[in-house]
Amino acid sequence: MVRRAVSSEPLQIRFWGTRGSTCASGPNFVEFGSHTACVEVRCGDRLFVVDAGSGIAALGAELGANAPMEIDLLFSHLHLDHVCGLPFFKPVLLSSDRVVRTYCGNLDGESAQAALERLYAPPLFPIRLDQLPAQFEHYGFKAGETLTFTDGATVTTHRLNHPGGATGYRFEHGGRSVCYISDIEHSDPWPDPGLVAFVRNADLLIYDGMFSEVEYPRCRGWGHSTWEKGAELARAAHVETLAIFHLYPGHDDAFLKAAEAEMQKVMPSSFVARERQTVSLAPVTAETVAEQAKAAKVPAV
Ligand SMILES: [Zn+2]
Ligand SMILES: [Zn+2]
Repeated sequence: MVRRAVSSEPLQIRFWGTRGSTCASGPNFVEFGSHTACVEVRCGDRLFVVDAGSGIAALGAELGANAPMEIDLLFSHLHLDHVCGLPFFKPVLLSSDRVVRTYCGNLDGESAQAALERLYAPPLFPIRLDQLPAQFEHYGFKAGETLTFTDGATVTTHRLNHPGGATGYRFEHGGRSVCYISDIEHSDPWPDPGLVAFVRNADLLIYDGMFSEVEYPRCRGWGHSTWEKGAELARAAHVETLAIFHLYPGHDDAFLKAAEAEMQKVMPSSFVARERQTVSLAPVTAETVAEQAKAAKVPAV
């Protein structure tokens, strides 16, 4: 498939939290980080925030007062490890002119509002979200629908197998694509054809590889997957690069480095996501297209 650039800016992602279920900490948890799920996605200068785990506080500190006045926050789902950082996101504390729009796709069309209002209220939390300076707008959709934003940007979505459901996202920009597939338990048989179609030809697949295949039998039904299943999905869908995400808080740096080395024997371009790591995908240019065509040429027999 020939994909041409429509922008000179890259599709860029940055991991602000890579852990799942809960945080990790200590001297053995430095390289891959400690915070729970949050990923910054930049389609050129257009910002999307995916999930509001504890990592969103560091993203907020980085954005500071320069954060866009309108921020779109896409939830995979509302489990605590994906929402616990929301009130600590600096842009919601700095300005009453700022609007934060949340999107939630696993509640049968219902938005995150009611659930977040239950969580962020005394006695569980000292204040309510509507007491914070920024204005929140909450939108619900059904995973599988395509989201169209106020500026015309679109993001496609996919329903994931997870307790209570979760939403996967696919971002496209400049002929490049990134898929966020976190909080999923793989099916049997695997890979699931619908998911293969959704992530097909992505440049980067961010995938829930919380466990290894050896560990998985003890964690069946918990709603998570393995790096091996991520590699199978990536191969079937001709994905360029695989980033393993939603890291188990008990896996220290040594464990994850060893897992990464094993993974790279199967898929050399794969890696385990590190907190604050950036992946930048330059737009597809005429030269890239020519290189792809050259690489795809099959020698005559
Ligand atoms: Zn999670
Ligand atoms: Zn979850």
